[in-house]
Amino acid sequence: MSDYDFIVIGSGSSGGVLAARLTENGKYRVLCLEAGTRSERYLWSRPPGGTAFMIENPEVNWRRFSTPNESTANRPIYVPGGKLLGGTSAINGMIFNRGQRMDYDRWAQMGCRGWSHEDVLPYFKKLESTDIGSDHYRGRGGPIKVTVAAKTSPFFDLFIESAQAVGYPLNPDYTGDTQYGVAMAQQTIHRGLRQSTATQYLAPARKRPNLTIRMGAEVTSLILEGQRCIGVRFRCDGAMHEARASREAIVSAGAIASPKLLELSGIGNPKVLSRFGIPVIQELPGVGENLRDHFGPTLKWTFRQRGLSLAGRGRGLRLLLEIARYVLFRKGFISEGVCTLRVFTRSTDQVEQADIGLLVNPFLLEIINQKRRMSNVDGFFIYAQVQRPESCGSIHIQSPDPFAAPAISYSFLATENDRRTAVAAVRRAREIAAARPIADVIAEEIAPGPQIQSDAQIIDFIRKTGATTFHAVGTCKMGHDSMAVVDDQLRVHGIRGLRVADASIMPMIISGNTSIPSMMIAEKCADMILAEL
Ligand SMILES: Cc1cc2nc3c(=O)[nH]c(=O)nc-3n(C[C@H](O)[C@H](O)[C@H](O)COP(=O)(O)OP(=O)(O)OC[C@H]3O[C@@H](n4cnc5c(N)ncnc54)[C@H](O)[C@@H]3O)c2cc1C
Repeated sequence: MSDYDFIVIGSGSSGGVLAARLTENGKYRVLCLEAGTRSERYLWSRPPGGTAFMIENPEVNWRRFSTPNESTANRPIYVPGGKLLGGTSAINGMIFNRGQRMDYDRWAQMGCRGWSHEDVLPYFKKLESTDIGSDHYRGRGGPIKVTVAAKTSPFFDLFIESAQAVGYPLNPDYTGDTQYGVAMAQQTIHRGLRQSTATQYLAPARKRPNLTIRMGAEVTSLILEGQRCIGVRFRCDGAMHEARASREAIVSAGAIASPKLLELSGIGNPKVLSRFGIPVIQELPGVGENLRDHFGPTLKWTFRQRGLSLAGRGRGLRLLLEIARYVLFRKGFISEGVCTLRVFTRSTDQVEQADIGLLVNPFLLEIINQKRRMSNVDGFFIYAQVQRPESCGSIHIQSPDPFAAPAISYSFLATENDRRTAVAAVRRAREIAAARPIADVIAEEIAPGPQIQSDAQIIDFIRKTGATTFHAVGTCKMGHDSMAVVDDQLRVHGIRGLRVADASIMPMIISGNTSIPSMMIAEKCADMILAEL
């Protein structure tokens, strides 16, 4: 059995940061185990447009699906996740959005000491480097470079003008004082290249002699001696191995795999564990519960004129030209992320902070044989989502086999407030589309379509067609109530030598994308660990 001070499980948005930070001072030997086999040199993970080639690719993607239930009109929901160095930060849409002040203040109000906005802001600043916004909110010297998306089509100015016409202010830094307004998205892209934890944290760190990264190493269980974690078991190169952590193991396998690993190791709800004959080491009924995600419909419009959308540039000869443009100049739509125009709005005037996010794209997608590709039809689409859904689902093992996928059970639109906000999100998007100048260039609304008007029709449409924007969080939630899995130092309740640090620890979903908050969680976790030594 090989010996390390720390073992980090997973190299994604959180694990990549932790492995790099814990090896920085040279004092501690760290083993980072990553189930994926591809490194930061994987071809598609550098050009931003490569997301399209990774979102369904089993070589770098876990490709999980939820269990169909009535909340999604009995449809499975696709749940992708990065399976390579950098984890999901190496395949995602690269949107930078850390949510709002109130998200973290609410975590603190829920009893998570040290996690208010004021507490976490230094870690957000530490991880980024940007010239956007004010020094108070933004970091200038961190590893992840953040830039503003380019307007790759005349569509963007038309849409922004229409949003302004219905009253939204232009708000270039939506991570500043307020999120409310319309803005081009900020992105973790620099000079046309993706900034993942693999490229920005691990590539420089892996030169250190005290960091060992093992790729293709899938952890199957934690090794527990009584109530202490002393190491991990993993499969690599077709054989089983064990590694010992003299100080701690840190689970950063993501919101789907982290609760699975705890359950396989005897930490969780006895009712779940006994179903598969797993002895209970620590009873924690919250493991795998509190699953939250951003779910919403795709609203679609076609244009009456060509040249406004990116359609056509995504296929055939024009795609080849775009590729050449990217290779030569790192410009064009391949150098940009997705959902590059954002509106943050409120469901009612009584709501103080934006509770709806509109993610706007200047093209249409078609899904053929479960594969997404850019449509040739000129148009645009908007994901209209509830930013802070109350509805919770769960993730649990459905077999004692460590290589079997867990059951992902979403429960969308389960509360009156979520349904009301979801309906308002569709209406807010339609209000902008009905305003000039964008209204002048629209041919028709093709989804949901003008026949869908009542609240009940809209909810039905969302259940039948909605998808997530891939922000699963919350399944090993931080806190001190009976359903909490980790404390506010991210230590697993009742087990020594074990933390969870990734998207799964969020007690509530934040009103934004979840990669940067996952990096923040890891920055703070590394700081807490090093401060204790
Ligand atoms: C397609 C897509 C697009 C997205 N777009 C955005 C976006 O634009 N902006 C944004 O902020 N967020 C986005 N997100 C969400 C965001 O990327 C994730 O919430 C975030 O990366 C989660 O970080 P994590 O560290 O919790 O997990 P991950 O980054 O998923 O890392 C978990 C790592 O653990 C590894 N692992 C899992 N199980 C094991 C095991 N048993 N043994 C060893 N290794 C294991 C995985 O292979 C993976 O590398 C997107 C997500 C997806 C899927």
